Amino acid sequence: MPVLALETSCDETAAALYDGERGLLSHTLHSQIALHAQYGGVVPELASRDHIRRVNGLLREALAQASLRFSDLSGVAYTAGPGLIGALMVGASVAAGIALAHDLPLIAVHHMEGHLLAPMLEDPKPKFPFVALLVSGGHTLLVSVEGVGRYTLLGESLDDAVGEAFDKTAKMMGLPYPGGPHLARLAEGGAPGRFKFPRPMTDRPGLDFSFSGLKTAVLTALPAGASEQDKADIARGFEEAVTETLAIKCDRALQQTGHAALIVAGGVGANQRLRARLADLAERRGAGLFFPRPAFCTDNAAMIAYAGWARLAEARPASGKLFTTARWPLELLRPPMAAA
Ligand code: ATP
Ligand code: MG
Ligand code: FE
Repeated sequence: MPVLALETSCDETAAALYDGERGLLSHTLHSQIALHAQYGGVVPELASRDHIRRVNGLLREALAQASLRFSDLSGVAYTAGPGLIGALMVGASVAAGIALAHDLPLIAVHHMEGHLLAPMLEDPKPKFPFVALLVSGGHTLLVSVEGVGRYTLLGESLDDAVGEAFDKTAKMMGLPYPGGPHLARLAEGGAPGRFKFPRPMTDRPGLDFSFSGLKTAVLTALPAGASEQDKADIARGFEEAVTETLAIKCDRALQQTGHAALIVAGGVGANQRLRARLADLAERRGAGLFFPRPAFCTDNAAMIAYAGWARLAEARPASGKLFTTARWPLELLRPPMAAA
């Protein structure tokens, strides 16, 4: 039976329905990018208010698209964290209301577990165990995944997340927010090799990352009155440095764990150069490589519906337990059976 999921952790309001037998039944999404663009970043209070305005319409549309009613559901999942607390509370409250009214189990989902399991929405799906590279606006994580809720952190960013580095670098070059996709587009016309930026922390062992220095290197390289071509060349150099750094660490993680597959998820997973670079690596290693479709790399409710379904399928979570949390380390998650 289908699980309804709501995602409101940041600046996307989304709803989706996932069924174990029939797969993803529907998903709807509204992005607040235009709302926050003039501020150059997400304004938390505006985000919460807009989630309230949109959430009911989006969840009704998801139900209508799947020709389902509340009485057809087997559970309601929502993103409980990490994220903006006021924004999270909107999805949590609506999900709790539906669960209470229809006597359904309420499933609190970790946003990064959602990102991590997003490749499960594709065909073919990856098989456990695998290495996951999670590259989003707020996280850069390398995780060994043995199953749902069986996560070992291999490495993480000690400062900026990759998406954040993309966004800050794009902002320095005068590109609109969120800058990642704009910077990637600019890099298309850039000359490779004109700017060579550092590959941070690749010259020593370990799987941690650091991206804040790269941003400074770009700022130093950016000439006053830079031409469009200068900017494109710098964007290309930045993208090369980031993708090579990520690829080097993925290679090490595959070697260290002995896992035969790599999955990449989170917004930066939509980056074409990163996808191509990791495809080379996987081919060289004879490893499987799995991505969500680009629309499921960035925030969406389909991944939350899948994660909620996966947890409900293995153990019925306690009904009516409502919580939200701004911070929630992924390693604290436990497999579904342990949670029962
Ligand atoms: P988190 O999941 O850590 O809470 P988030 O939900 O804000 O953060 P996502 O929605 O997963 O992050 O991803 C958004 C990030 O992905 C932004 O930083 C954006 O610039 C970046 N991004 C999206 N598309 C691309 C692309 N093609 N190239 C590079 N970066 C991209
Ligand atoms: Mg977003
Ligand atoms: Fe996200």
